[in-house]
Amino acid sequence: MTTTASGLVERAVRAARTQRAADPDGFHRRHDTPHTWDRWARRARVAREIAAALDTPVDAVLVTDDPHRTYPTRTGPVPGDLITVTDPLTAHPWRFIPDNATPGQSWWLLDRCPGCATEVPVARVATLADLGDHLDPNRPGGANRKSAERPTECACSPSSPGEAAVRGVARNATVR
Ligand SMILES: [Zn+2]
Repeated sequence: MTTTASGLVERAVRAARTQRAADPDGFHRRHDTPHTWDRWARRARVAREIAAALDTPVDAVLVTDDPHRTYPTRTGPVPGDLITVTDPLTAHPWRFIPDNATPGQSWWLLDRCPGCATEVPVARVATLADLGDHLDPNRPGGANRKSAERPTECACSPSSPGEAAVRGVARNATVR
């Protein structure tokens, strides 16, 4: 069907332009080596998984280098994934990082720390309901209810020191 074909062309070109604008270098170099293609394809899977979990269109999700977090690999630290989900209705960007459990299973929502305004993990999210539970002003238990232990990412974070290292995630500042 012609309608469907032109619809796909339009969406594909828009997706390419969005990606090129968000991550010019990463998009341009994705075919350079098996490693860059592997990372590109892996991030495409990350986008599909979080889009499915949050019931958003896949093209609302962008996965780029995390400027603040690195992950140890055999060949040295590499940038983590910074996942940006742009609400198609409000254009509000929601940012997530992987939680280092089973890949594609759950993520950390990032938001400003109320204490110091650093962008830190605030809620562990596997489903739309987890996000809603975090955002719901009328949630049972309020601020005193039990929530997942979050990685330490700022001086005023309530979780125990060293937890970030245990999870294998570290702010750039702590990687030598
Ligand atoms: Zn803080």
